[in-house]
Amino acid sequence: MNILITGGAGYIGSHTCIELLSSGHHIIVVDDLSNSNEMSLERVKELTGRDFIFEKIDIADKKKLEKIFMEQRIDAVIHFAGLKAVGESVAVPLRYYHNNITGSLVLFNLMEKYGVRNLVFSSSATVYGANNQMPLTEEMTLSATNPYGKTKLYIEEILRDLSAANSNWSIALLRYFNPVGAHSSGLIGEDPSGIPNNLIPYVTQVAIGKREYLSVFGSDYETKDGTGVRDYIHVVDLAKGHLKALEEVTRSKGIGAYNLGTGKGYSVLDIVRVFEKIIGRKIPYQLAERRPGDLAVSYADCSKAQIKLNWAAKKDLEEMCRDSWNWQVKNPEGYINQKVGIN
Ligand code: NAD
Ligand code: UDP
Repeated sequence: MNILITGGAGYIGSHTCIELLSSGHHIIVVDDLSNSNEMSLERVKELTGRDFIFEKIDIADKKKLEKIFMEQRIDAVIHFAGLKAVGESVAVPLRYYHNNITGSLVLFNLMEKYGVRNLVFSSSATVYGANNQMPLTEEMTLSATNPYGKTKLYIEEILRDLSAANSNWSIALLRYFNPVGAHSSGLIGEDPSGIPNNLIPYVTQVAIGKREYLSVFGSDYETKDGTGVRDYIHVVDLAKGHLKALEEVTRSKGIGAYNLGTGKGYSVLDIVRVFEKIIGRKIPYQLAERRPGDLAVSYADCSKAQIKLNWAAKKDLEEMCRDSWNWQVKNPEGYINQKVGIN
């Protein structure tokens, strides 16, 4: 198939590009590089031995995006492009609403206009809000407390309306839990700019000596050790889930939401311990206040993805942490100042 990938230079997108190319698909990547580096795509080419079109485009730029739809035959779209920092979304909500929602509307309009109605959308576990029982299942109540989460929820709503209005659409809403890890080569991985918001990149930066210690946000939750529990999923397992979702959208019509996680919850201190085992040293940490907006526990029921997509995560927590560490060690400054072929 010919697949348009928005946001394909990013963390999850670049890993998905590898899986798609390795399975024989053709891809066209559009990304404005607002939170990524073109080097990731060079690495994808290096790892797969496959070439593909890349256009540096903001998806909200209708004229430029339409040129792609006019010039390329597209069978399906995987839509990763979006801004994702929760704290930043609270500070500059209009930027998030414009980028994520207006950008998505431009894309969906062009898909409608050019008759491309197969879509896999990057949603998030954040759409479940705070008041559900664990494990989270797809039909539970949805809500969002910050502009980032709201953009995911609103885009899901828009897509449900679109599917109701035109039964030719076929849409998978993939609700990711906590993507971590990196490609086993250590050539591509998560490359946060500035101070990482997320736990794993923060821990790897502490482990490599770039940061002094980890602040553990909350030690008085009702969990086994008082620290927050999450469902971490290896990014390569997640990438493979996109291929399965693509198969589903091309064989059936309608809209479906799928949890992509492992179904297992690990605490912040579990993560610290696994990293200590991998690096053979202590990870310095300090117990700190809860981070506003954090849930105590979040983990998925993934049985729907298993049954309907024939997908299940395979990689365990140790492999996730080992691959994150391998990426960190091989790329201490991320993609910055690196040239293709040097590593
Ligand atoms: P990422 O920032 O690494 O990738 C997103 C990519 O989209 C980046 O390369 C960025 O440059 C690009 N982009 C942003 N706005 C764009 C625009 N207007 N036009 C073109 N390109 C644009 O993030 P990621 O972790 O790979 O996440 C991919 C998707 O998955 C995002 O939609 C994110 O919200 C969602 N998601 C991520 C997580 C996570 O923890 N990483 C969890 C749940 C959902
Ligand atoms: N966390 C932490 N210190 C950090 C970053 C995160 O203790 O520097 C905790 C956070 O409170 C949560 C877990 O680690 O319990 C995962 O946080 P992350 O930001 O990676 O994912 P999310 O909160 O979006 O699920």
